[in-house]
Amino acid sequence: MYNKLLSPLDLGFTTLKNRVLMGSMHTMLEEIPGGLERAAEFYAERARGQVGLIVTGGVAPNEEGVVFMGAGKMTNEEEASHHKIITDAVHREGGKICMQILHTGRYAYSDKLVSASAVQSPITPFKPRPMTIEDIERTIEDYAHCADMAKLAGYDGVEVMGSEGYLINQFIVKRTNHREDEWGGSYENRIKFPIEIVKRVRERVGENFIIIYRLSMLDLVEGGSTWEEVVQLAKEIEKAGATIINTGIGWHEARVPTIGTMVPKGGFAWVTKRMMGEVNIPLIATNRINMPDVAENILQEGCADMVSMARPFLADGEWVLKAIENRANEINACIACNQACLDHTFTMTTCSCIVNPRACHETQLNYIPTENKKRVAVVGAGPAGMAASHIAAMRGHHVDLFEADNKIGGQFNMAKVIPGKEEYQQTMRFYEAQLEKHEVNVHLNHRVSAEELIAGKYDEIILATGVTPRKVSFEGADHPMVLDYAEVLHQFKEVGKRVAIVGSGGIGFDMAEFLAHQGESPSLSVEAYANEWGIDQSYQQGGALKPADPEPSPREIYLLKRSKGKHGKNLGKTTGWIHRASLKMKEVNMLGLVEYVKVDDAGFHINVAGEPQLLEVDNVIICAGQEPLFELKEALENANQKVHLIGGAKNAKGLDAKRAIKEACYLMAEL
Ligand code: FAD
Ligand code: SF4
Repeated sequence: MYNKLLSPLDLGFTTLKNRVLMGSMHTMLEEIPGGLERAAEFYAERARGQVGLIVTGGVAPNEEGVVFMGAGKMTNEEEASHHKIITDAVHREGGKICMQILHTGRYAYSDKLVSASAVQSPITPFKPRPMTIEDIERTIEDYAHCADMAKLAGYDGVEVMGSEGYLINQFIVKRTNHREDEWGGSYENRIKFPIEIVKRVRERVGENFIIIYRLSMLDLVEGGSTWEEVVQLAKEIEKAGATIINTGIGWHEARVPTIGTMVPKGGFAWVTKRMMGEVNIPLIATNRINMPDVAENILQEGCADMVSMARPFLADGEWVLKAIENRANEINACIACNQACLDHTFTMTTCSCIVNPRACHETQLNYIPTENKKRVAVVGAGPAGMAASHIAAMRGHHVDLFEADNKIGGQFNMAKVIPGKEEYQQTMRFYEAQLEKHEVNVHLNHRVSAEELIAGKYDEIILATGVTPRKVSFEGADHPMVLDYAEVLHQFKEVGKRVAIVGSGGIGFDMAEFLAHQGESPSLSVEAYANEWGIDQSYQQGGALKPADPEPSPREIYLLKRSKGKHGKNLGKTTGWIHRASLKMKEVNMLGLVEYVKVDDAGFHINVAGEPQLLEVDNVIICAGQEPLFELKEALENANQKVHLIGGAKNAKGLDAKRAIKEACYLMAEL
């Protein structure tokens, strides 16, 4: 079935093992003591998992181009020598690895930042210094030198990062290039910078070295390149000596989500498809490709010669191997949540993965077969219980997993019904396959009691019983119009046309999203998604934007919170803006500084900044936090039974699946 993924692609001077590229990710390992050793193991594990070609996280060609002060750069032999450990490790496993050269330009988080012109980006606090002609020439030379150093370090090639709104992009479009010299003005002048870089790199590294150019095929910003301009640049980049063209979608400052979980799978492959036939070198499609069937469709429909995936290799280092062996069902899929990868990078924390806490921690967290097999009971099959059962059984323990519901997944079963979060079902699919493979005894529809567990004489009992929605205490909280989030998302109780949501954390936002949609989720159709967010697939003008045309909400919705300030300020760094924008498009009313007074037949009586207001709503839905469920703990401990608490059962405050799964994995690695 996956033979297209496996067919070798002859590049004339090297043969790639297959048609899957592991795309660039800034893991933050490069910046911590001992991080390059950890990075070496991270990449080696992916090469062992049969990834043919890997691209590293971005490395700056000079001091001005770093992501932030102290971030990775390659400017001399000494810096190159530190990378040898990475290239050796990958080569030992039979893989190939390219180093990405990234000059951030005006996106740099440093006071040395430079750009084509002094135009500050809307997402960074610093204004760039415009580059002089000498700066430009020196920077081109720095790229060539950096590529040379990468070769010295043992890399098989480089990827020149020309997209996502970084320095090269800043030269290409008028939005950021206001120069009047030979590096600005006409399009020909503006694209001289990337062309010269690729030419100079090729001259320096010789023939047998891969140069991938990441081409911004769809800027998604006003004043971005037109399609004709993108094609012109692609042809010039080919002439300049690139080996492969990779696709870049959207600048970082674009107001259209390009990789979040709400983006349809393979949702931007149509862009690469437009470019097919325009150049003679291979093209790579990117963005939201996470399972073999998605990759396979893209290749079979002629959208690209190769596919690139980045985050899916955090979620599962054996992705390619499992695809080759027809074990797609065993792939731990990336659910595109960004919670443990990009959100970590943007908060300067080591990257990992919500569904695979081993990612970037390969030297620290390992699941070694046990020599002391135990009988283990796991209570609750939410994310914590599923992960605990999987790891324990994989290590050789005998596991009974008890779940009160008729299916595994816990609260993730509520997450997956939110429009745009359908992907979360993949996590349950993965665990179902793993629990079966490792012969976990799964007892569904079984609310286990302490007596039963004691009678079972288990060596270890893991309580992963999760949480229950927190009750509220205002007058009328027991009125029939008041529902909690589980009654809506799990029991699917009917909700009226006018709704107030109490609480604007992650679940409050998800609830608003759920109630603001009707019919098929736009995340399931590339066209519907393009209309919802304003992507012009006919590419009429530069940047390919058009007015967003979202389906109107079928309900009037109020999202309420007690504190003042922006709604959803604790949502993920890289996704909070998307959720806010989405609810704004649905005209959800966001009210802060709200005091909840009472609910009666007239509606919801509240004070907003001290002013009384009556919301004439049909339902009030409570999304005001959770309480841990650990009622079994006391009875078990009284019977001298050893108990471990993980996930929501341990602590409901600030709970998310990242913490729940991580706690399970670390506990079970040691059991
Ligand atoms: P739970 O998921 O609550 O699972 C506990 C399980 O134990 C339940 O299935 C319950 O039936 C079972 N159980 C309880 N008592 C017994 C018993 N005595 N016997 C047998 N079984 C028992 N988190 C994120 O990280 N990212 C998100 O995007 C996200 N989105 C969410 C969206 C929604 C709408 C909701 C409701 C939650 C979301 N979460 C998200 C939160 C995440 O789902 C929870 O943090 C996570 O599920 C907690 O895992 P857990 O295993 O500790 O508990
Ligand atoms: Fe994918 Fe989420 Fe893991 Fe990041 S944290 S790799 S987005 S599943």
